[in-house]
Amino acid sequence: LTLQFHLLGTAAGGGLPQWNCLCRQCDLARREPLRVYPRTQQQACFSTDGEHWFLLGASPDLRQQLASFPPLWPRAVRTTLIAGIVLLSADLDGVLGLLLLREFTPLTIYSTAPVRRALLANPFFAMLTRVPGQLTWVEITPGVAFTLGEPPVTLTPLPLGDQLPFYAGSLDGGAGASIGLLLEHDGRKLVYTPGVPHVSSSLLEHYAQADAVFVDGSFWSDSELSGTHSGTPQARAIGHQPLSGPDGTLAALGTLPASTVRILVHINNTNPILDPDSPEHAQALAAGWQIPRDGWQL
Ligand SMILES: [Zn+2]
Repeated sequence: LTLQFHLLGTAAGGGLPQWNCLCRQCDLARREPLRVYPRTQQQACFSTDGEHWFLLGASPDLRQQLASFPPLWPRAVRTTLIAGIVLLSADLDGVLGLLLLREFTPLTIYSTAPVRRALLANPFFAMLTRVPGQLTWVEITPGVAFTLGEPPVTLTPLPLGDQLPFYAGSLDGGAGASIGLLLEHDGRKLVYTPGVPHVSSSLLEHYAQADAVFVDGSFWSDSELSGTHSGTPQARAIGHQPLSGPDGTLAALGTLPASTVRILVHINNTNPILDPDSPEHAQALAAGWQIPRDGWQL
């Protein structure tokens, strides 16, 4: 009955190192990769039988991530063990991987209506519907549970934001444009939220009742991006509550039970916690958080 849950990628958009960046962490990831580990972009997957796997998001690094994870290798020519893909938003960092899976093997995508609208407005995604039965789209709704796998995992989408990404232009977002997931299996609860604009009281309640929480670790401070590259926005302005400070995520989740497994995910390359020799890294660990590498498993 065990839930196998893996993190195939742990970095925010751009990965580590990011192609155009020479911030401290990107520099160290190139020069001292045994100190600051290179990371691919955020990607998780799970299975309860080892035969049917479900992806959470579809990262731009998905090809490499699948190649690096033997349990997901095909067992016969032109087949896959990917039984479904749950999208958490329409952000390119979480959907571009779909375009890498266009070799005619049937896929089932679970997403909310606004995410589906945003993707289908883009002609690239027609590559996934070239032959009948290639793509099955299942609509999911915030607050409405559904099950995946056998033995089943019950998933409940948690609404986190109502904005679609910039590329969606004038398309309406609305409830479900960005979600987290509550996963329940065998009496255990896990909350997966790689993008958290704000730790609301209802989200905090879900975290408090969970056995394990995977939380947005994009930024240490609100001004981290603009400090690295002037003219860039604050963390909160792009939908990520920073970790530090009296109103940061570590403080907000400081009330969780000591037994809660706490995992930081979706870590941006500008975040100093990526350097194990930094005081910020020590501070996150002291607060009970794990900073997993790619390949981490629950
Ligand atoms: Zn960088």
